[in-house]
Amino acid sequence: MTGNTADGIWVPDGWDQHSRLRVGLTTASWGNMSPYVGDPQESLHNRTQLAEHLSLGDQGWTWAEQVHGTEIAEVTVQKKGTVGRCDGLASGVSGTALMGFFADCVPVLLAEPRSGIGAVVHAGWRGTAGGVVQQGLLALVRHGVRVQNIHAAVGPCIQGNCYEVGKDTAARFPKEVVSFAHGTWRVNLLKANMLQLTKAGVLERNIAHSHACTHCSAEYFSHRRQGARAGRMAAFLILRS
Ligand SMILES: [Zn+2]
Repeated sequence: MTGNTADGIWVPDGWDQHSRLRVGLTTASWGNMSPYVGDPQESLHNRTQLAEHLSLGDQGWTWAEQVHGTEIAEVTVQKKGTVGRCDGLASGVSGTALMGFFADCVPVLLAEPRSGIGAVVHAGWRGTAGGVVQQGLLALVRHGVRVQNIHAAVGPCIQGNCYEVGKDTAARFPKEVVSFAHGTWRVNLLKANMLQLTKAGVLERNIAHSHACTHCSAEYFSHRRQGARAGRMAAFLILRS
C-alpha cells in the first residue's frame, strides 16, 4: 500500500473512504507549516490556506511543540495552537484538527475510523527508539478502541539507505532495522515503526505506508538535505462527526 498525492497532499491508500476522518500530509509545494521554523506569518498563512482548502472552518489547527520524546497529549476540547511540549496528539472530539510537523522524521497517523478517534504521532530516531508509536496506540486504547481495529498510515520520511547514524544510535535499534555499508551505519526508521505497529497487534492489512523518501525527493522537505532552514510539512488528521 502506498497512497496518492493530489493537490500536493499525500493521502494514504484507503483513508479517503473513512467518512469520519480527513487525513494527509502536505508536500513542500504548500510551504512551511511549522510556527517554530522560518517566518511565523508565512507559516500561519500556509496553515490558513490548508484549512480553507479542506473546508475546515475557523476552529483552527491543534499542534504540539515537538521535542523528540514519547509523550502523547490527549486533546479533550477544540483548541487553536499548541497544547505544549510533546510528540503526539490524540483525540475523540469531533471537529478537532490535529497537526504534526515533519522534515525526515516519520509521520504516523493512527485511527479507529468508525468511531472517529485518532492520533498524529511524530517519530524521529529518538521517538522511534523510545516507542512513541506504542504510546500513540495506548492513547487510542484508553478510548476503548481495540488494537485490531486501529488503522495506521506511515507517511513520507527519510528511508532506510538514506538515514546514516552513528554507531551509538544504531545500537539503540533492533538488528533487523540496522545495516552497515561503506563504513556507515544506517537505520530504517520506517521499518522500525512498522515493526512496532505489528508487534503491538495492528493488523498488516490495516497499515498503509508511503515509499517516498524525503531525503531523495525534492517534493518533500528534508532536514538532512536542506539543513536547519528546511521547512516542515504538516501531517493532519481531522475528526468529523
Ligand atoms: Zn532517500
